[in-house]
Amino acid sequence: MIAFQMSDEQSNLVALVRDVLEQEVRPLVHEMNKSDQEAFDWRPVEALARLNMLAPNIPRKYGGRGLDFLTLALIIEEIAAVSGGLSSCIVGTIHATLPILIGAGEEQKQRFLAPLVTDKPALAAFALSEPKGGSDIQRLDTVYNPSGENYVLNGVKDYIINGGVADFVTVCANADRKSGRGSYQFFAVPREQVKVGVNRQTMGLKYCNIAQLLFENALVSKDEMLGNSDTGYLLLSQTLDCGRALIAANELGIARAAYELALSYAQTREQFGRPIFSNQGISFPLVEMATAIDAARFMVWRACYLIDKDGDYTRASSMARLYAGKVGHMVTSQAIDIMGAAGYTDKSLLSIYFRDAKSCSISGGTDNVQKMVIASLL
Ligand SMILES: Cc1cc2nc3c(=O)[nH]c(=O)nc-3n(C[C@H](O)[C@H](O)[C@H](O)COP(=O)(O)OP(=O)(O)OC[C@H]3O[C@@H](n4cnc5c(N)ncnc54)[C@H](O)[C@@H]3O)c2cc1C
Repeated sequence: MIAFQMSDEQSNLVALVRDVLEQEVRPLVHEMNKSDQEAFDWRPVEALARLNMLAPNIPRKYGGRGLDFLTLALIIEEIAAVSGGLSSCIVGTIHATLPILIGAGEEQKQRFLAPLVTDKPALAAFALSEPKGGSDIQRLDTVYNPSGENYVLNGVKDYIINGGVADFVTVCANADRKSGRGSYQFFAVPREQVKVGVNRQTMGLKYCNIAQLLFENALVSKDEMLGNSDTGYLLLSQTLDCGRALIAANELGIARAAYELALSYAQTREQFGRPIFSNQGISFPLVEMATAIDAARFMVWRACYLIDKDGDYTRASSMARLYAGKVGHMVTSQAIDIMGAAGYTDKSLLSIYFRDAKSCSISGGTDNVQKMVIASLL
């Protein structure tokens, strides 16, 4: 059994991250949520870079913090409770590191992980989704072909978090458009070889750069090939399975922030001469929210525990992602009801939380995809 208590080390780390976020990121939150930003605002990422928290899963031997997944989930929840956009950038970066950590050689690890462990801001992207291949990732259209000693990549990836601002993009490509997943191969593609098609304007996560990426005879060397085609689909499955637990942790942080805001509003807002919290019509939904958040958190912790113990985590991770998405949507929506008109204004943090939370039911595979995964394991 596991204890439901953080270790001293985990508590200290969470407190450190919370402190820096409150001081350096919280004051920027409204600015970060403008969709008309001309350039990516690196200041929030820089605050995390100084803590070596851009991809805190990177092992210590490569200069990272070497956090296990359970601790990663605690940190991601904390970041998301201040900015779901910022935490999504970090979750995207962690996704990009996973095929490298699982499948790359030593020199490749040294090379690609290095920019993510300095105190300079940097992000990475994980590119799987394509215009024709969203839920169905059994036949990717992005292909790689040998070209002398090197390879060329051709294809389009879409809705890629950090796509236009990444130091490198971890790309999943196919040997041939007619081939299936057995021919998948990962590449870590340097920024110079990636062309940005469209910067996607999304309803939430407005801080993130979410881009369409074009690979037009993009030249990659064999040193940028991760693992081999025998292991391509395995790297992909492991990345998605582990990543889903972190997407769930992200959602948990957003839900927690919305719940805490609604609770404090309910305790101070007076109608009919008393705080609205004194009505069960208000306190009971808050009870439902708190209970669901706890349940989602325990599911995230279970999935992360299994990942850390190299257990059977696929089902637990998809369940955590599926349930957290529902909790995030329910909590952010009910929080708006509790705050009335004050929760519905553009300036309300709740409008940010509500729009950010909706992303969870799509990213890392839609809810139906999670159900397909879980159904196959029942
Ligand atoms: C905010 C955000 C960030 C993202 N970041 C990344 C990223 O960093 N990297 C990346 O590679 N991708 C990323 N994506 C893309 C994401 O993974 C895909 O959008 C997702 O997998 C769904 O694909 P789709 O949008 O093409 O929907 P579709 O696959 O077209 O699905 C549309 C609907 O049909 C349903 N559906 C499809 N097939 C079935 C079926 N067989 N049975 C039942 N229902 C079905 C789906 O559940 C969904 O409801 C991101 C998406 C979002 C919204």
